[in-house]
This record gives sequence, C-alpha cells and structure tokens, in this order.
Amino acid sequence: MGKRILVTGGAGFLGSHLIDRLLARGDTVVCIDNLQTGSLQNIEHVRDQITFVEHDIIMPLPELGKFDEIFNLACPASPIHYQADPVHTFKTSVLGMLNLLELARTQKAKIFQASTSEVYGDPSIHPQPEVYWGNVNPIGIRSCYDEGKRGAETLLFDYARMYGVVIKVVRIFNTYGPRMDAQDGRVISNFIVQSLQSQPLTVYGNGEQTRSFCYVDDLIEGFLKMMDTPDHIQGPINLGNPNEFTMLELAEKVNLWTGNHVPLTFNSLPKDDPKQRQPVISEAQHVLNWHPKVMLDEGLQRTIAYFKERLAVKSERS
Ligand code: NAD
Ligand code: UDP
Repeated sequence: MGKRILVTGGAGFLGSHLIDRLLARGDTVVCIDNLQTGSLQNIEHVRDQITFVEHDIIMPLPELGKFDEIFNLACPASPIHYQADPVHTFKTSVLGMLNLLELARTQKAKIFQASTSEVYGDPSIHPQPEVYWGNVNPIGIRSCYDEGKRGAETLLFDYARMYGVVIKVVRIFNTYGPRMDAQDGRVISNFIVQSLQSQPLTVYGNGEQTRSFCYVDDLIEGFLKMMDTPDHIQGPINLGNPNEFTMLELAEKVNLWTGNHVPLTFNSLPKDDPKQRQPVISEAQHVLNWHPKVMLDEGLQRTIAYFKERLAVKSERS
C-alpha cells in the first residue's frame, strides 16, 4: 500500500522530480506551493494524479487530512530569488518549518528537510563534512537563506529532542537538471541558455571559484533512501556529487556540449560568494548506500537537451 505524502515546494525544480518518483512507486501526493519560484508547468503532466494546494507555508496550514510523511522543499533556492524578499525567505525557512513541524508532531508523521550546503557558508574547511559548523556571515545578503536554513535545522533537532518527532535532514549541494528555471540566475541554467542563444557566458569574478554539481535524478534517489532509513537516523547527511569544478571549467564544458563556442564575459563577483564547495559524502555512502552515478558531462548533455526543447517551444509560440 502506498503512503500519503505531503510535498511542500512541489511545483519547483526538485519538488516536481520528487513527486514523479513518489507517484511512480504508488504513493498519494498532496503538493503545497505558493508558486513564488515554481510553476504549474513543472507538474502539468501529473496534475490529475495529485492534489495541488496553492498556499504559503508561513501561514497556518489548511486542513488536508492525515499524512504518513512530509517532504519540506518550499524555499526559493537561487540567490537572486531568495534575496528578492529576504524577510519572506527567512519566514519561509523558520515560520514555515514551525508550521510543518507542528503538523508532523500532531500527526506523528516523519518529516524531511531539504537543507543546504549554504549552512557551511564560505567554508574554511575543504571538503565539507557534516560535523563542520560552518563559516556564515549572519548579517550579509545571503544570510536570510543561510541562517534561515540553519534556524530550520535547529527547530528540527529541538522538535526531535522535545517531542520525539522523526526527522530526516539532508544538506543538498548544487543540483541541476531538467526543469531548472531558466530565469533564476543559477550558473548551470545561465550558461546553458546563454550558450544555446549564442550570447557570452557571464562568469562572475575570475571564475576560479568552485562548485560540485549533482544531477537531479541522483539527488532524488538520495531523498527517498534517507526518508526510508530507520527512525533513529536523523542526519544531517550531505547529498551531492564530490566532483569539483571551477566556473571556467564549467563554461568550457557547456560550450563543448552545446557545440556553440561562445566567448566568456567577466562580471563582478556577488558579495559573500563562497570560494569553494565540495561535499564529503562518506556518511551518505555508508548510511544510505548512496553515491551519485551521473557525472557532469552526461548530466549537462541531458540538461542541454531539455533547454533546447524549451527554447524551441518558446520561439515557436512567439
Ligand atoms: P525552486 O525555487 O525551484 O523550488 C522551491 C519551491 O518552493 C518553488 O516551487 C516555490 O514556489 C516554493 N516556495 C517557496 N517559498 C514558499 C512558501 N513560503 N510557501 C510555499 N511554497 C514556497 O528550488 P529547488 O532548486 O527546487 O529547491 C528546492 C529545495 O531544495 C529548497 O528548499 C532549496 O533550499 C533546497 N536546495 C536546493 C538546492 C539546489 O541546488 N537546487 C541546493 C540546496 C538546497
Ligand atoms: N555564477 C557565475 N555566472 C552566472 C551565475 C553564477 O559565474 O551567470 C557563479 C556564482 O558567482 C557562484 C557559482 O557560479 O560562484 C554558483 O552560483 P549559483 O547561483 O548557481 O549557486 P550558489 O552560489 O548558490 O552555489
């Protein structure tokens, strides 16, 4: 028998992929999303198989019946979106988390949190293990997201200690794939769209900063494995692909796979932009028997194919 599952942020990039996997294994899905950064297009293909509720999780939750599990993915994830209304971003992470934890507590439902590598800030330890407490600026332009997610982790662990709520916390490192929003300013979607449109790739700073990119299918597999662990496994567990690249290397790969060798243009580096980021994934390997399978070249080719199709449809319509 399938479970009854609440997915918040289900109309977003990651949430929509998670919903596909839950439906494929026979679960019943209710999706809450305020459509701030997500889109109904991401869940169009499953609209008649799920219950969609347009709602902001900072507000008291509507009565939606009993859930076995809650996946909380609601939060804008790209810097331009989470910085657009930082107070709302903070409320989403903290007030939204409180509302969902209360639901989990009263319903005795398991709750999963999509936390982030941003809890490590601009890390002074490299690569980053879960035991590292981070190097976060508490008053900078990224703090609404970083400190919001850190506050959410605090609430989760206090609810577990005070009320015995079963919590599952993963820290996601940069993830990419089909259904990323072309407008949200993340580096992979920016570079792919720019390269396909024969526009210069916008490298911020000197492009020597690094990130480790995980393909979406691998990440969602990790989500499902984490939710299915025994109750005492709480995390936090890093999920990401440890292969690390500079933005210059990424630009080169994107140009290689689009076949359009467009030039680079150098813009200023955003404030507090982390210089390097790479997950230690030994916990995920050991506890979840999980490791990423799709490497960057393959993942980029799949993502480029998606954006090519999207851009073609858009130009047909205009
Ligand atoms: P996304 O912006 O595509 O999805 C977030 C979804 O949450 C959107 O559909 C948005 O409309 C919804 N949302 C935002 N605020 C809400 C609110 N107050 N109430 C209800 N819905 C709300 O981003 P994503 O990449 O799919 O990220 C999903 C989750 O994973 C986020 O919590 C993000 O912090 C986390 N995460 C993602 C990455 C990544 O690389 N993609 C990395 C680290 C963490
Ligand atoms: N970046 C870039 N060009 C872009 C967008 C981003 O060089 O068009 C850089 C950005 O400064 C950062 C890295 O790419 O160093 C990853 O940025 P993204 O916004 O994708 O994720 P995050 O900074 O949250 O890891």
